[in-house]
Amino acid sequence: MQVFGLVGNPVGHSLSPPMHEAAYTELDLDARYVTFEPAEGDLDRAFEGADALGIAGLNVTIPFKQRALELVEPDSLASRIGAVNTVDFSGDTVTGHNTDAVGAVRALEHHDVALDGTAVVVGAGGAGRAVAFGLADEGMGVRIANRTETKAHALAEEVPDATGHGLDALPEVLADADVLVNCTSVGMAHDDDPEPDETPVPSSALHADLAVLDAVYTPLETRLLRDAAAAGATTVDGAWMLLFQGVEAFELWTGRNAPVDAMNAALRSGL
Ligand code: NAP
Repeated sequence: MQVFGLVGNPVGHSLSPPMHEAAYTELDLDARYVTFEPAEGDLDRAFEGADALGIAGLNVTIPFKQRALELVEPDSLASRIGAVNTVDFSGDTVTGHNTDAVGAVRALEHHDVALDGTAVVVGAGGAGRAVAFGLADEGMGVRIANRTETKAHALAEEVPDATGHGLDALPEVLADADVLVNCTSVGMAHDDDPEPDETPVPSSALHADLAVLDAVYTPLETRLLRDAAAAGATTVDGAWMLLFQGVEAFELWTGRNAPVDAMNAALRSGL
């Protein structure tokens, strides 16, 4: 039996176990996907133990994505993003990858969005970094807008063909853009506000020639996606990005095409 899993803290509400196990069932693979919650300073020992025990692959989430980069042989994309969310223990060296970037790219492609024009990425945190590099690697020009404008400029220095902006520039940078990805946590439900009605993008800046992906997936239909639909834009919810980061990890670990529909059904039934 092959063992895969997720390392993070906390991981109790993760939807990765049902999503990956649905794939194993669908393809009749003898595999399990389990969650691990090491203490904050214990990732080094956790990886050594996983390797010694023959664990085949691990996803990595908050707060370990940056530390993981230092413990594995990262691929070029993970190095540039500065974070690893997928580790492969199967080879002679332990390799690290970042499937968040590819998750966003594949989510858009799955909705027939052409990735050959200009993208606006709102947010310059972990998700913003991944998506900005992912879309730049597809050949898109990337405009990064962030509440803390200096962070947008700093990220734009690293990403090819990118510019940095404050949120006030959104109407201007969106006017001729093809793709918009919200990588801020604005609009995400939390304990204090379980039904937020917030968006980082003024609705008047949205238009019918845009494809809008919201990385936020709780709720699935955010205010941004409602506004985008009302403007006639193509909309892609955050569960698609979550799905395809898992699909990409599954394919990297097993070398097989993922059963996307089964994984999608398992994920959405948990949301
Ligand atoms: P992060 O590293 O903490 O970054 C948070 C980002 O949100 C920063 O750019 C921050 O701007 C911005 N922000 C926070 N509050 C804001 C506000 N009130 N107004 C404007 N901007 C605000 O978080 P992350 O890991 O990138 O995650 C961001 C979101 O993406 C979360 O909702 C997360 O669940 C989601 N996500 C989804 C997927 C998926 O697969 N669908 C994957 C990864 C992340 P400042 O720099 O100015 O603070």
